[in-house]
This record gives sequence, C-alpha cells and structure tokens, in this order.
Amino acid sequence: MPHDGHDNGSKLSETELRVRALESLLIEKGYVDHAALDQLIETYETKVGPRNGARVIAKAWTDPEYKSWLLSDATAAIASLGYSGRQGEDMVVLENTAKVHNLVVCTLCSCYPWPVLGLPPTWYKAAPYRARAVSQPRAVLKEFGVELSEDVEVRVWDSTAETRYLVLPMQPSNTNNWSEDRLAEIVTRDSMIGTGLVGSNA
Ligand code: FE
Repeated sequence: MPHDGHDNGSKLSETELRVRALESLLIEKGYVDHAALDQLIETYETKVGPRNGARVIAKAWTDPEYKSWLLSDATAAIASLGYSGRQGEDMVVLENTAKVHNLVVCTLCSCYPWPVLGLPPTWYKAAPYRARAVSQPRAVLKEFGVELSEDVEVRVWDSTAETRYLVLPMQPSNTNNWSEDRLAEIVTRDSMIGTGLVGSNA
C-alpha cells in the first residue's frame, strides 16, 4: 500500500521540522504560550474541521439523492459543498447500517481526510490505535464507549495516500423530522471515523 508523499510515522517531514522549529522559537521569545497553541490545535481537531464533515453527513441524511451521489462518488459530492483540497482528493464514504459498522485507521502513519475532518486527533496517530484497530477492533470500539451487538459486522478500512475514508454514521431514529442544521450539530468527529455513534442528545 503506497504511503509515499506524506508523513510516515516517526520520521518528521521537512514541513513538520520547520513547524516545530518555529513553534519553539515563538514560545522562547514569549510571543505565544504552549497552552494557547494547544488550544488552537484542539479547536481545529475537534471543532472547525469536523464541522465540514458534519454538514456532509447531515445533507446525506436529509437528501436521498445526495446520499447516493456521496456513496458512488464521494470526492465530487463532498467538493460540491466546497470541501476539497489536499488529503481529500480521493474520498470514499462508508455507510454504517444495522448490520455493518465501519472503522477507519491508517496503520502506517496518519492519513486522514483533512477537508472534512480537519487535523487528526493524537490517538489516531498513535501506534496503539493504529495496530489494535486492525487486530482487536471490538476492544478498541469498547474503549471508545461503542458496544456493538455480535451480529454487527465490523469492517476496518486502512487509509492510504490515495484513499481517504469518511464514515456515514447511522442517523438516530428519533431525528427523522430534524432540519439539516440541527442534524449537523449532533454529528461528532468520532462518529465519522467510526470510533463513535451519533446520539440524538449528543
Ligand atoms: Fe498513512
């Protein structure tokens, strides 16, 4: 599985090295503090980025035609909402159903669909998740608070430099008459990676 052309595990890329050097310099000079930077990154990881994906999911839940387009040509359907660019060139959307639960990992590094989810969370890049998502997916899901019944098949998808996945979570049954905006608010980042489910009181 080709993983060239982007970050590969522990080896830092030229860009990452430059970012680290700049970060240390800014902190050393007292221009920024570590906590503020962490908070900024956290915002992009959990709020800004995943809100794009949430719009995609909410539209798929409320518009059957958009949903079929999304499942057949995710890259184009997602780009139609304005979300495209690096690390989102070849998107595949995986639909969760009552019988199938999809879980996304990048076993070799940290491939992640940036245009729809923003920056990958730390755990996504960490070795334990990368290894165990494949070998013990149900145990990993349980640690994230997701318990699936035995008759649900868990499918694990390994992202690559070519293909990035977005999970289309199941819509909570009591939200059928909700507006797209309201639905977008309950879609979590983890539910679009497969390490979470969407609840109507999220
Ligand atoms: Fe990767």
